[in-house]
Amino acid sequence: MAKVRCLILGGGPAGYTAAIYASRAGLEPVLYEGMEPGGQLTTTTVVENFPGFPGGIDANSLMDGMRKQAGSFGASIRRGTATSVDLSERPFKVTIDGKETLEAETLIVATGATAKYLGLPSEEKFRGLGVSACATCDGFFYRGKDVAVVGGGDTACEEALYLAGLCRKVYMIVRRDVFRASKAMQEKVFGASNIEVLWKCQTREVLGDDSGVTGVRLVRESGEVFDIPVDGFFLAIGHHPNSDLFAPWLETDEKGYIVTSGKTQETSVPGVFAAGDVQDPVYRQAITAAATGCRAARDAERFLLEND
Ligand code: NDP
Repeated sequence: MAKVRCLILGGGPAGYTAAIYASRAGLEPVLYEGMEPGGQLTTTTVVENFPGFPGGIDANSLMDGMRKQAGSFGASIRRGTATSVDLSERPFKVTIDGKETLEAETLIVATGATAKYLGLPSEEKFRGLGVSACATCDGFFYRGKDVAVVGGGDTACEEALYLAGLCRKVYMIVRRDVFRASKAMQEKVFGASNIEVLWKCQTREVLGDDSGVTGVRLVRESGEVFDIPVDGFFLAIGHHPNSDLFAPWLETDEKGYIVTSGKTQETSVPGVFAAGDVQDPVYRQAITAAATGCRAARDAERFLLEND
C-alpha cells in the first residue's frame, strides 16, 4: 500500500494552496483533484476580485496557475476521487476511485461545496450564459441591467443587495410569502428601492436565445404564469458541502460543514485538517479558501513535527 505523508483531497483554491505550502515544507504531498478539477471557480468566467490581477483573470487560467505552481514544488497532482475513507487510526486509509488505497500520515480535506440548482433543463442550458450561483463572482457583468435572484435566505438577500448596487433592477423570486433570512437582512432588502420581491413564485423556465438569458417564466401559487425580462438569473438556494464521505468520522455542523477548531484547520480527528468551502458556510471566496489551504498545510506540518 502506497504511503503518503500528506494527502490532499480537492482540486480547488484550498487544495492547490495546501499543496503549494506542503510541498515547499518538504511533506511531498499527493493531491487528488476530485470530480471537478479547478473547483467551483471553473463554473465562472473571469475572476476580478482575486488580489494581484488588476485586469481580472480567466478562472481556468487562475486554477491552472495554482496547479502548476504546486507541481513546480514537487506536489504530485493526480486525477481521481476519494470513494471511501477509514479515519479510525493513523495512518488514515483513503481509497481512490474504488481501486487504489493509500495510507496517509496526515489528511487535508478540501473537497469544497456544491451550489444547489433548481434542476431545470433550461437552467443547465444557460449556465455561464446568464445563469450563475455566485453574484460576487459574476454580478459585475450585469451592471445597469435587470437580474433575478432565486431564494429567500441570507445568501439570497446578500446577493440581491450586492446586485442592487450594480444593476438597474433586481427581482427576488421567493417560493413562500416570507423570507428565511434574518430580520436585519430583510429590512435592508425592503429598504432597497430597486429590489422587487416576487412572493409565492417558482421558476418554471429560464428563457434565452443565442446571446444568453433574456428572461424567466414564473408561476405563482395561484397558478398564474408570467414572464419577467432579465439578463441574469442567480441561484441562492443554498450550498451542499461535499463532506458526506467524512461525516461518519469527523464532527460536522447541522448543515454538514466540517467543524474546525478555533483559528486552526484542525478537525475532530488529530491529523485530519479541513480547508475551503467544505468547512466554510459563510465567506466561500477563492481567496478565503486559499488562505485556509495555507493554514491546513502549516497545521499538518506542525502535526508531523510533533507526532513523527
Ligand atoms: P438557506 O438554507 O438559509 O436558505 C435557502 C433559501 O432558498 C430559502 O429561502 C429556501 O426557501 C430557498 N429555496 C431552497 N430550495 C429552493 C427551491 N428549490 N426553489 C426555490 N427556493 C428554494 O441558505 P443560505 O445559503 O441563504 O444560508 C445558509 C446559511 O448561511 C444560513 O445559516 C445563513 O444564515 C448563513 N448566511 C449568513 C450570512 C450572513 O450572516 N451575512 C450570509 C449568507 C449566509 P424556504 O425558506 O421556503 O425553504
